[in-house]
Amino acid sequence: MKKILLTIVALIIIVPTSFVISIIAFPQWYFEGEELKEFQESVAVMKEEPVLFFGALIKIYITGFCTEPRNYSITTIDSRFKISKETVTALLKEAETLWEDAAGIDLFNYQESEGDISVEFIYDDRQKSTFDLQDFNRRSVTHETRVADLDRRFDAFSRKIDIWNENPGTEDERARLEAEGNALEQEQVLVNNNADQLNLERDILNAHADALGEEYQSGFFSYGDNKLTIHQYDNVNHLKVLLAHEFGHAISIDHIDNPESVMYYLLSEDGVIRDFKLSDDDKTALNRVCKL
Ligand SMILES: [Zn+2]
Repeated sequence: MKKILLTIVALIIIVPTSFVISIIAFPQWYFEGEELKEFQESVAVMKEEPVLFFGALIKIYITGFCTEPRNYSITTIDSRFKISKETVTALLKEAETLWEDAAGIDLFNYQESEGDISVEFIYDDRQKSTFDLQDFNRRSVTHETRVADLDRRFDAFSRKIDIWNENPGTEDERARLEAEGNALEQEQVLVNNNADQLNLERDILNAHADALGEEYQSGFFSYGDNKLTIHQYDNVNHLKVLLAHEFGHAISIDHIDNPESVMYYLLSEDGVIRDFKLSDDDKTALNRVCKL
């Protein structure tokens, strides 16, 4: 009996210990990409300052992640995003308030510079593709309007021809009709060329979207260096939800498997943007990490 008990106790100690050792020694078995980088950074801190590291862990375990508001500053906004610092500051404030209203405590503070969290807007292919697609959609709408307008004018023209056939007019009128017909034909050629061009662009945009992948990251929060990075957003509403999502990560809330949540991993699907509203699951997670 004693032996069995000893074996059980040994197993209870050995299994988790070997798990912890294996995760530290071989993090690539458990994480990949950004998560792996973050984990390795945490291990580096732990090895350098073990007392501080475990002290901080114990403090967080007892008091939660929200004992003091976190200061954030905007460090970089690439001008190609075509968004002003004032707009970003206002959206950050709204994102902050969304969590703070639910928590009933101060969680974040804007600070002009050197905040604990740095907010950066890094422009790359992701936002460029978004702008290209938006520009393409605008031109497609213009094209459709032009096609409809030309159709209407062709109809009106064919009515004039019918009338002419029933009751032919003067030579001058015939020449005018012929000129009008030629002008319409020429415009039809231009519209057709434009349609070909748009189809070509659509193929290129689709191929590009496939290459980028459906679920590429629009933004992320890096725990290693406390960076809140934005790479892509469809519009201001999307950006606002995205900032709220990353603020959620900043206080250590993970993704929530409920599409109604701000902490759901996807915030924009087929152009539909998640509501700027915390779900019950978001609030439960907030209460848990902040020990409210
Ligand atoms: Zn996320």
